[in-house]
Amino acid sequence: MERLVIALGGNALLPPGKARSFDAMRIRVAQSAPTIADVAEHARLVVTHGNGPQVGNLLLQVEAARAQVAPPPLDVLVAQTQAQIGYLLQQAVQNELTRRGHPDRVVTLVTQVVVDADDPAFDDPTKPVGPSITSETEAMLKRAKGWRLMTDPRGGWRRAVPSPRPLEIVEAEAIRHLVEQGFLVIAAGGGGVPVVRDGGRLRGVEAVIDKDLASAVLALALRADRLVLATDVEGVALHYGKPEQRFVDRMTVEHARRYLKEGHFPPGSMGPKVDAAIDFVAATGKEAIITDTGKLVAALAGNAGTHVVP
Ligand code: ADP
Ligand code: MG
Repeated sequence: MERLVIALGGNALLPPGKARSFDAMRIRVAQSAPTIADVAEHARLVVTHGNGPQVGNLLLQVEAARAQVAPPPLDVLVAQTQAQIGYLLQQAVQNELTRRGHPDRVVTLVTQVVVDADDPAFDDPTKPVGPSITSETEAMLKRAKGWRLMTDPRGGWRRAVPSPRPLEIVEAEAIRHLVEQGFLVIAAGGGGVPVVRDGGRLRGVEAVIDKDLASAVLALALRADRLVLATDVEGVALHYGKPEQRFVDRMTVEHARRYLKEGHFPPGSMGPKVDAAIDFVAATGKEAIITDTGKLVAALAGNAGTHVVP
């Protein structure tokens, strides 16, 4: 059976808009489950997912309760989102597979991802996390605590954290065994818990890892046959959002690199997906797909999405 890594974008987990309730998330995840089950019937599957809105909500809660409970560091918060999202997804997919008469073999794994302590990202934090900071005094207090702040285009500031490149999935071997035993594994949620190697020990760091790049590293470690980056658009477009916009159904690594350089894929949205696809395809000679979550099955059959080829 084909081995797939599928990275789920935020829209598979939360409805568009500002939904902050777990009911909304439960409903959305239940809507995504049949598609995942469709794929799981024909492939060995590892599912990764984003955690942007969820970690944002946790940071809001942390700020609100700061006087009562010591704020957890960011690595712990990422682990918390792996558990909450993984749990909801695991249950929804389990229910769907059970309904179809298949044994429910779905697990979520807390996953650590190694980054380089000397990654240049640590000197230049660029990833905004958490709520907007609106008062000068608060901004001053946060800076005194060592936070890096960046201006929020909607006004005020936001905390900026490093987004170092993922190097290695600590639990890759465990995931591989589970997949071989027929488990659908949910792993590397939110890009994984960022850790550095400190001598022989692992230590969590205050950073976040891009989930698309981490998914590529995981797909390589698992020797996956294909990497799928599922999101809320049909695939990749050139001149996105402009009148001359043109959908791309197939591009070589060489073309992808050129379009990236020409600025068609912004950092923070389509950029990391194309980067991840390039990493996987260039290293394996296999295929990566960027597609709408709702069109996963068609995309895997070659009838939808953008296919990145050697
Ligand atoms: P996810 O949660 O799936 O990672 P992102 O918002 O990070 O979603 O990335 C998907 C978004 O990238 C799309 O909703 C789209 O608005 C944006 N995007 C930017 N450039 C392009 C492009 N060239 N082609 C297609 N989508 C693009
Ligand atoms: Mg994204």
